Amino acid sequence: MQKKHESFQNLEGEKLKTSLRFKNVAVLGLGKSGLAVSNLLIKCKANVFLSELKDDPALKKRFKNKKISCEFGSHSDQILKNDLILISPGVPLELPILQKARRRGIPVWNELELGLRLLKAKTIASITGTNGKTTTVSLLADICKNAGRKVILAGNVGQPLTLFVKNQKKNDCVILEVSSYQLEALNKFHFQAACVLNLTNDHLHRHKTMQRYAKIKQKIFLNQDPSDISVLNWDDPWCIKMARKVKGKKIWFSTRKVLKHGVYWDKEKKKIIAKFKQNNQILSFNNPKYLLGLHNSANACASIALSLGLKIKPKAIRHSLEHFKGVAHRLEKVRVFKGISFLNDSKATNVDSTLKALEALDSPLWLILGGEDKGGSYLPLKKIIQEKKNVRGILLIGGASKKIYSEVQGACKMFFSTTLQNAIKKTVKLAQKGETVLLSPACASFDQFKNFEDRGDQFKTIVKNLK
Ligand code: ADP
Repeated sequence: MQKKHESFQNLEGEKLKTSLRFKNVAVLGLGKSGLAVSNLLIKCKANVFLSELKDDPALKKRFKNKKISCEFGSHSDQILKNDLILISPGVPLELPILQKARRRGIPVWNELELGLRLLKAKTIASITGTNGKTTTVSLLADICKNAGRKVILAGNVGQPLTLFVKNQKKNDCVILEVSSYQLEALNKFHFQAACVLNLTNDHLHRHKTMQRYAKIKQKIFLNQDPSDISVLNWDDPWCIKMARKVKGKKIWFSTRKVLKHGVYWDKEKKKIIAKFKQNNQILSFNNPKYLLGLHNSANACASIALSLGLKIKPKAIRHSLEHFKGVAHRLEKVRVFKGISFLNDSKATNVDSTLKALEALDSPLWLILGGEDKGGSYLPLKKIIQEKKNVRGILLIGGASKKIYSEVQGACKMFFSTTLQNAIKKTVKLAQKGETVLLSPACASFDQFKNFEDRGDQFKTIVKNLK
């Protein structure tokens, strides 16, 4: 049994495709990536077995008439009858059935791994980090498109990579947003350009310690050689630690320090400067016009470093910095109503990203905070509110309200609003012309919403309907 599976383990490209024919493959989790990977496997003529933990009647109905074997409501031992197991990003690697599978020598891959093994494209740029991934990959994709490259943007953002495998070509530029969950399960991959943006306290319920979390993030540089590009954040102590083991050509970026070589935000000149040792070249770029805050200058620095590393012409970079409008739910301007600006930063699902939003905004603010608590401390919010003094009041919503109140009280006025609807209503009464209402919750959304997109969309709908 062991031998049979091992022979499968090192394959990629056409060889892998051929060897998938008539093999039994289990797919765990039937979300977007589970469905994409199943379709690809079916095209490769594998015998697919779908296993979904939720007993979802709608999903069941969808698969009822298809000739694919499925199970709903549990991950049973039937999974162990397969030659390969493919997991969706949400499926924990330490699931007992997966431990059993590994003991029997059955390879456990994630959707991204299969996609990467089957990809023909020769340029893969991959970005990870606690915050800023989506903004940075989206800006980088925009830059590459401006430079005339055919871009595939996939991974944690937008569409699963396996969806693109069939139609992509050697010269395509693949840009991936990779989460720590995806990296944890990846084995065989090689990124020509890779970047770690930052590392702060998040997802520790899964990774337990920052050391373990950092080790997983560092995996993005694995298998690189000196001809590859490794982009790292000079301002982040975890990145500095990681750099020791990086084998690619390092390009540092910073928003705090004037670097001898690298890409940095020059506070005096109000420009992003890129300096390289090899050709003594110095390039200067404007800050991205529509992206607010120093954190977005950091994201722009990382995108510029990756673009220049991929030999993209500065002209294409400058065009994007001038025209890229940003990504929905990240400090997104929604509406000005009676002189009050409403900003949707629903993607701020942790304290650090709410801090970044507060750092970015100087106008008087009404802050909507709360949701599902993630176990961290809200004290850093109290500190910045006391320092900056522009937060006029906080409207608390969701399960974390009491905890936030107990840690932040004394910094400004606070109101228990319970729901988003109530909070917005209250801000309309309290806010004055020229002030801003900011939804930047510092919490997950699952106690009251499907996800952060749903929370942001509901915010936008309520605000757009204000009369
Ligand atoms: P991710 O995909 O990593 O979650 P996003 O680009 O979607 O990152 O941004 C998520 C949140 O993090 C936003 O609310 C934003 O304000 C904040 N953020 C964006 N970039 C950074 C950064 N470089 N450092 C810290 N926070 C950031």
